[in-house]
Parts: sequence; structure tokens; C-alpha cells
Amino acid sequence: MSIAIVAALQEELSAVLTLASLQQRGRAVVGGREHFLGLWAGQPVVTVLSRIGKVAAASTATALVTHFQARAIVFTGVAGGLRQGVQVGDVVVAREFLQHDMDASPLFPQHEVPLTGKSRFQTDPALSDALCAAVRQGLPQARLHEGLVISGDRFVSSSAHARTLRDHTPDALAVEMEGAAIAQVCHDFGIPFAAVRTISDRADEAASVDFQRFINTVASPYSAAILGAFMARWPAQR
Ligand code: SAH
Repeated sequence: MSIAIVAALQEELSAVLTLASLQQRGRAVVGGREHFLGLWAGQPVVTVLSRIGKVAAASTATALVTHFQARAIVFTGVAGGLRQGVQVGDVVVAREFLQHDMDASPLFPQHEVPLTGKSRFQTDPALSDALCAAVRQGLPQARLHEGLVISGDRFVSSSAHARTLRDHTPDALAVEMEGAAIAQVCHDFGIPFAAVRTISDRADEAASVDFQRFINTVASPYSAAILGAFMARWPAQR
């Protein structure tokens, strides 16, 4: 029973894998993805690149649960800031997720996942508390937000689109492309899930400018710092 660590971008995965505290023990290819098996703070871990988007993330999460018997999934990545005050370089720990591009209306209310009766999928409170504590410890200088994160299969890079998302879900802190899919899979299987996102852009016209540089210079070291602090504390509490 492993803890699974998932990233959407290769640079972040690499930053986590090079942490000295992670002892690598092997690799396994499942679903076309290379899974890195290891021991971290005495705990078995499996680390994998989901790739980008909801289907990629859902498929990754399903394999982690069914093939690797993951007992919890933690996602680390970047996101576009939506709500006022959620700025580049801030960190968001998701308390719930919603798919902003899910719309089976008029059969079901907008954003509701058909036949679940739900539009919002909660993350695990204890795991998310532990991630927040890890952010405060590993990155004491970063501003931390907690709340709703929305996901969809679009890289949001226009102020008009960002405004529409804000109008539809005023409490959304940030937008990304994977979290809600993993939250739904984890809900279906009853597996605890938590996610942390560093804000890489404001989901506007400037979103793609400096994106890659931000990943390399800020987001990847942030992922390593947060996960390092998380793994040092969380397993011992279980
Ligand atoms: N140009 C990049 C694109 C990556 S897609 C590349 O070629 O690699 C963006 C990734 O960052 C996704 O994993 C998504 O979850 C997250 N993300 C960051 N900012 C986002 C935004 N404004 N809208 C949607 N997803 C965003």
C-alpha cells in the first residue's frame, strides 16, 4: 500500500525524484506511463507523470489505485490564479474541485457530473491539512490559499475566459487541467486525495509568457520543498 505522488509536468516530477530522502527501488510501466517505486521516510511511494488533461489524469489515478494499490494520492503542479489576490508565486491547497467544462444541461445542472448528483468533489481533510502544514514548513515565505480549484481541458490564457470562469464560480481560487478528474476517481474508489498547486500565471494573455522558465526556476523547487516536508511528517502521523 503506497502513497502515490503525481505531477503533470516532467520538470516537477524530476525535482521530486531527485530528493535525497527518496530511495528509488524500481520502475514499472503501466498504461504507457513509467512509475517510479521507492521508499520515502520508511514508506512505500509510487511517483508518476500523469501528463496534461483530465483523461490523462483519470487514467493515471485509476492505475495507481487498481494496479499499485495506492492508499492515498497527492498531486503537485501549477495553476492559473483566478480570484483576486491569488498571485503568481502563491501556493494553493485544494479543499474541493469542480470541472468547469462539464455541462450536460439542461439534463443536469451545469458542472454536475451526471449520475453522481455532485458538482464539487472534496479533497481529504487530514491529507490536505498535512499538505498545508508542509507548505508552511517547506516554504515559509509563500502565501498559502485553501479552497476551490477548478479543472478543464483548456489552458486558460485570455482575460475574457478567466472572467467567465470567475462569473460562473466566484469562489474558485485557481484553474488547472487535472485535479477534478483525480478527485472524481478517488471519490469513486474511496481513496484520500490532496493537491497542491503553485500559481504560475493569472490565466490571462500573459499566461504562456515565461511559463517554462517559471516551471524550472520556481514551481519545480517548490514541489520538491513541499513534498519533502510533507513526506517527513505525514506518514509518521498515520
Ligand atoms: N506550455 C506548456 C503548457 C502546459 S499546460 C507546455 O508546453 O508544457 C499547463 C499545465 O499547467 C497543466 O498541467 C495545467 O494543469 C497547469 N496550468 C497552469 N496554468 C494554467 C492555466 N492558466 N489554465 C489551465 N491550466 C493551467
